[in-house]
Amino acid sequence: MSIGRALLLRASRSAFLASQLRRRAFVGRAVRRFMPGEELPAALEAAQRLAASGLGTVLTQLGENLTSRDDAVAVRDHYAGVLRELRRRALPAHISVKLTQLGLDVDREACENALHALAAAASGTGSFLWIDMEDSRYTDVTLEIFRQARAAHAGVGVCLQAYLRRTPGDLDALLPLAPAIRLVKGAYAEPPDVAFPRKRDVDASYLALGERLLEQAARGAARPVFGTHDVALIARLRERAAALQLARGACEFHMLYGIRDAEQRRLAAGGETVRVLISYGTAWFAWYMRRLAERPANVWFVLKNMI
Ligand SMILES: Cc1cc2nc3c(=O)[nH]c(=O)nc-3n(C[C@H](O)[C@H](O)[C@H](O)COP(=O)(O)OP(=O)(O)OC[C@H]3O[C@@H](n4cnc5c(N)ncnc54)[C@H](O)[C@@H]3O)c2cc1C
Repeated sequence: MSIGRALLLRASRSAFLASQLRRRAFVGRAVRRFMPGEELPAALEAAQRLAASGLGTVLTQLGENLTSRDDAVAVRDHYAGVLRELRRRALPAHISVKLTQLGLDVDREACENALHALAAAASGTGSFLWIDMEDSRYTDVTLEIFRQARAAHAGVGVCLQAYLRRTPGDLDALLPLAPAIRLVKGAYAEPPDVAFPRKRDVDASYLALGERLLEQAARGAARPVFGTHDVALIARLRERAAALQLARGACEFHMLYGIRDAEQRRLAAGGETVRVLISYGTAWFAWYMRRLAERPANVWFVLKNMI
């Protein structure tokens, strides 16, 4: 891992930096590149615009590691309202949640109940509920909670991170559930015995896991979603999907709002199902630092806004 990336990921956990930088207008301007606004209406308007150009969306309210039960209940209620609004506007949008945002650190049972309520509401409104994957302290519990939710609801999927050494085993263990899996490279600072430190190993792991998912999808035994902006990887996965004669829409490509927009449109024009993950909310600091860490050149963009 580069020093720049390591520093940015360490900064993402600093409450002091969060409180200082969130007040600076130039940081706010730079953050706008990756989110249409802090409030839900801005996210919904962006989703509507993207839908008009053939792109689906996934909405996520920023926030993680909540320490108050009341805040976690408010998050659950917020997402329930989002699902109602998506149906009212007939938007082709999913939602994505972090378990620690539903209070996992405070009350696991309440978190599970909230997740079940949202999975039921998502299925009932024709939407879909994604569970984000957080750092490796949460991998086991996230997969356990996903298994329970998947046993009760069809409309729920989970994210797996290709940088974790354990992920091939996790994928094998999940396959009997015919799961929806959003495969990503992984965004957190992890020790080398837990995650591959070298990018080329992460990319190789992603390709191997992606091909395995596509093979399962060809048998109707998985619903793969590739959450990546890596154009070379996407090209190889599309070739594999074509070789397997996978029906269009049997796998999807998801990217983050503001990253590789032209590629999003190009894939959609080529007949792929593409969704843009739109984040919104005021708790953007840790999330934004992870976006900078993915591409430390983004720091120049922040500095340009300062000048
Ligand atoms: C839909 C979606 C959901 C995600 N959910 C999770 C999750 O639940 N848990 C988790 O740990 N991670 C999640 N991530 C983040 C993911 O783990 C990676 O950190 C992130 O996607 C960057 O990796 P990459 O696959 O795009 O490949 P990279 O090799 O990092 O990037 C490929 C190319 O994409 C462009 N790019 C990538 N990131 C940026 C950026 N920040 N700014 C500008 N350009 C960029 C660059 O051109 C880069 O060369 C998610 C990502 C996506 C797209």
